[in-house]
Amino acid sequence: MTNVSRETFDEVMVPNYSPLKIIPVKGEGCKLWDKDGTEYIDFAGGIAVNALGHCHPELVAALKEQGEKLWHLSNVFTNEPALELAQKLVDGTFADRVFFANSGGEANEAAFKLARKYASENFGPEKNEIISFKQSFHGRTLFTVSVGGQPKYTQGFEPLPQGITHLEYNNIEMLENAVSENTCAIVLEPVQGEGGIIPADKAFVEKVRELCDKYDAVMILDEIQTGMGRTGELFAYMLHGIEPDVLTSAKALGGGFPIGAMLAKQKFADALKIGTHGSTYGGNPLGCAVASKAFDIISNPAVLTGVKEKRVLFETKLQMINEKYEVFDEVRGEGLLVGAALNEKYLGRARDFMVAALEQNLMILMAGPNVVRMAPSLLVSEAEIEQGMAALEKAVAKVVA
Ligand SMILES: *Cc1c(COP(=O)(O)O)cnc(C)c1O
Repeated sequence: MTNVSRETFDEVMVPNYSPLKIIPVKGEGCKLWDKDGTEYIDFAGGIAVNALGHCHPELVAALKEQGEKLWHLSNVFTNEPALELAQKLVDGTFADRVFFANSGGEANEAAFKLARKYASENFGPEKNEIISFKQSFHGRTLFTVSVGGQPKYTQGFEPLPQGITHLEYNNIEMLENAVSENTCAIVLEPVQGEGGIIPADKAFVEKVRELCDKYDAVMILDEIQTGMGRTGELFAYMLHGIEPDVLTSAKALGGGFPIGAMLAKQKFADALKIGTHGSTYGGNPLGCAVASKAFDIISNPAVLTGVKEKRVLFETKLQMINEKYEVFDEVRGEGLLVGAALNEKYLGRARDFMVAALEQNLMILMAGPNVVRMAPSLLVSEAEIEQGMAALEKAVAKVVA
């Protein structure tokens, strides 16, 4: 087992990824180590997944405890951890019903299928059009890449599912003109994550709500990246004072254990009758036990308030770096979903910043070629933010030089 290296990747893996040079082998909180023992500060958080850092002791305990009891049953039986987690999600949100999956893409797949089913059963088959937005990201299954607004992810995979329209995000006029009696769903991320950390305007979200009500369309919020505390609210819709009809969650939901969920109001959930949809592993006891513990910790008001406070520190530090090196146009996002958009001079170079940061033992992300992204643990300490930002400053200095 020790006989593998980064080179092994190029020999045995499908070449759809281009992983960085080091291989982390151990993590604790916001720290990671590679096999030489080099320590890294982790502001990538497994792409907004490790909301409680690596190997949080309470998550490890929940995993071990459940791991010695029961891992898997299939949905021929229900199980206590799934019921407990569903109860918490229902009590803590707008939703009346929960469907469990194993990833974000699967949660969205369920949501899009639900919208089609709900519309065809209640209004007829011609009500099938899904409205989505450019630059959006909803997963990598054929349906979810098709609903997503990034053509590079559908190219070569045609023929694609039909009946999907992509509009400009935050463009109210365009939305009003496009929506019709045939619209079955409007799907959006409250902050476009992969598309460049672009927050939805409050007025835009309100308009989506209004039009969905007017046209009996399902309002689907993809909160896979914004969800579970990332914005300083349990879910980002809570910032906007509206409720969606359907919401998808994954990433932070399991704190690092793969799990996804679709949350829905009763009348929409009812469309998925017995046998209409399913998943072998969805709602397995092991994943649900870990997610249930993650929910308890993340939903603690002190943790959520902490997210908002730490954001201020990130913004202040990024602005200080920017005053010195003039690399960013703006810092955007919500809570600990931080996007620093590169200015004209550095367009297309987000990966250079990411690689330079790694050389300073700091892990960060990009959100497209023009945005540096950070999505650290919600429990990151002020000292770790200071340390990480000092490393980022050195990395920026190198790129600029
Ligand atoms: C990551 C992500 C997905 C896809 O989740 P997977 O678990 O990779 O399938 C979907 N939507 C958004 C907004 C995401 O950030």
